[in-house]
Amino acid sequence: MKFWASDMEAFEYSAQPARVIFGFGTLPRVTDELNALGRKRAFVLSDPHHATADATRLMRALGKLGVHLSIDAVMHTPVDVTERVMAKLVAHDADCLISLGGGSTIGLGKALALRTDLPQIVLPTTYAGSEATPVLGETHGGQKSTIRSMKVLPEVIIYDVELTYGLPPGLSLVSGINAIAHAVEALYAREANPVISNLAEQGIAALGRALPQIVSDPANRDARADALFGAWACGSCLGAVGMSLHHKLCHVLGGTFGLPHAETHTVILPHAAAYNASAAPAALDRVARALGSHEAAGALFDLAATNGAPTSLRQIGMSKADLDKAADAALQSAYWNPRPIERDPIRALLDDAYHGRRPT
Ligand code: NAD
Repeated sequence: MKFWASDMEAFEYSAQPARVIFGFGTLPRVTDELNALGRKRAFVLSDPHHATADATRLMRALGKLGVHLSIDAVMHTPVDVTERVMAKLVAHDADCLISLGGGSTIGLGKALALRTDLPQIVLPTTYAGSEATPVLGETHGGQKSTIRSMKVLPEVIIYDVELTYGLPPGLSLVSGINAIAHAVEALYAREANPVISNLAEQGIAALGRALPQIVSDPANRDARADALFGAWACGSCLGAVGMSLHHKLCHVLGGTFGLPHAETHTVILPHAAAYNASAAPAALDRVARALGSHEAAGALFDLAATNGAPTSLRQIGMSKADLDKAADAALQSAYWNPRPIERDPIRALLDDAYHGRRPT
């Protein structure tokens, strides 16, 4: 329904509470934020990659306020890992969670927050965007399920651009395209609204500009800042509106077939965009415009291909024999999508993605 003479449509929008600190060298601000929350016993989470440098620096900055550093985080937030870390959390009588790392570390922090309702301060080191969402994906017995709860939305995000300097160019690229996927689906979401759609377009443009620069010059400070801003913008989109076919397919391929998260998003996104192009032309036009192109699906494919990211499911470990099973799984408890989700076209989409064909 349209209320105005302009193109503006009726909408609903709920803002997510979030405190965001963005800049270079912001890591030491963590102690002020802990004090502002009135907390004194921080349980710090990271992964083995960060343990020797950044997480150790964080523990030093915290001094007596940091009671334990756990580097147990692994991909897809398996429930057995969470339960093991939960026992340590209780043993240390912690009153706050601090996560420094990518989506896997942040996922573990959220899983602990869901069980304890402890506040979270998050320092992201990739572009996955989980820090800006009240969403938690957990894996139990090979099945990944998603929970939406305000208990898991981090209270404070500290973006320190310097924490992303070490993210290798290839990982930066797929992680950034993972973020772009949130914004693409936000633009055609059932709950789309002008606030989030503007943020989505801004986020896609920032990442679309920054990622090729990072691939050719990983130390480019401006590109790193642009990409991290884009990650926040796109993550905020994921937190605010529902996701569709693309995220469903990636959950199936990651949770059931164990494919790597960001790479899977990178391969599937152009095909999901092509699938929805005729049902959501205005949204896909905005994606194309943000990428400086006239057509979204091809531009998304080219962003990956010309910068050296994987473009086929075959390249990232999918077995051809599992494509039928994946198509069936995509139809089970399917998410809302602008175009009906039907078996034959979904199977064809997976075939295109398996072979890495450029969508038209
Ligand atoms: P990740 O956290 O697993 O990190 C990938 C790899 O990069 C790891 O080996 C890690 O050690 C390394 N790494 C991270 N930061 C680095 C840096 N700055 N320099 C060098 N290496 C670095 O991967 P991810 O893609 O960030 O996160 C994926 C997970 O996040 C998945 O489980 C996914 O489901 C989840 N996720 C959740 C949401 C949500 O809203 N719930 C959103 C996005 C992603």
